[in-house]
Amino acid sequence: MLVPFREILADAHQRGYAVGAFNCLSTEHIMGAIQAAEQLRSPIILQVAEIQFPYAPLELMVPAFIEAAQRATVPVAVHLDHGLSFETCIKALRLGCNSVMFDGASLPFEENVNQTSLVVRAAKAVGADIEAELGHVGDAQCSADIENDIFTVADEAKTFIERTGVDALAIAIGNLHGKYIATPQLNITRLKEINSLCNTPLVLHGGSGTSEEDFKACAHNGVAKINVATALQIAATKAVENYLATSATPNYIDMKNVIVEATKESVSWHIRLFESDGKA
Ligand SMILES: [Zn+2]
Repeated sequence: MLVPFREILADAHQRGYAVGAFNCLSTEHIMGAIQAAEQLRSPIILQVAEIQFPYAPLELMVPAFIEAAQRATVPVAVHLDHGLSFETCIKALRLGCNSVMFDGASLPFEENVNQTSLVVRAAKAVGADIEAELGHVGDAQCSADIENDIFTVADEAKTFIERTGVDALAIAIGNLHGKYIATPQLNITRLKEINSLCNTPLVLHGGSGTSEEDFKACAHNGVAKINVATALQIAATKAVENYLATSATPNYIDMKNVIVEATKESVSWHIRLFESDGKA
């Protein structure tokens, strides 16, 4: 069932677990993710990011997400990940996303507040919810991003949430986007500071290489949504590689099924880790 983002996050936030938000780039990803969620009785978020539009167009993905959500026997939210402009957010809302992320993290604080507030007004006007980001989530491929202190500051987060009215806030606590070279150490102390000041569900981006211990600490300290993108791509690629190497007569249909299964396995692993199983 298609359930508001806010409701899915509120339950996770109250009960101390996190909902996986999986970046789906194909019907195989969608099918595998929904099968995992249904089997484990977990709420789930389907999403696609603006930088992924060249190979997973918003106009194709969102209707598929919505149809999959409506057919599902567990709560599903349909979300735009990393909307880079007001225009993209509006487009996603018009297609039926029940929540959007506006990414103003690279903007100066005041400008981030102003632009995010505008998207909040638009989203609220159509009954949708919004996630924003404060602090800079680094890129795993960029060593400067690993070393710099670019973490979200707790009292700034509080001010940002109050001034914008966002439903969820993505924070930077040492998490990185993409495929990690080494497992990053999250600053859980900083997370606790942010969580004690802000009574709003927090979001962790860059969920593909974090340690299991850090994931658990996040889920237990206010992080209600964890984004997983790269892990699903790696799982699918490895499974296809193995299928092509071992099958005497490879064919496309079997290869599609291999991707669905690999996705289901990866999503199931994350659901158990985030402790959202049995919550739907
Ligand atoms: Zn992200």
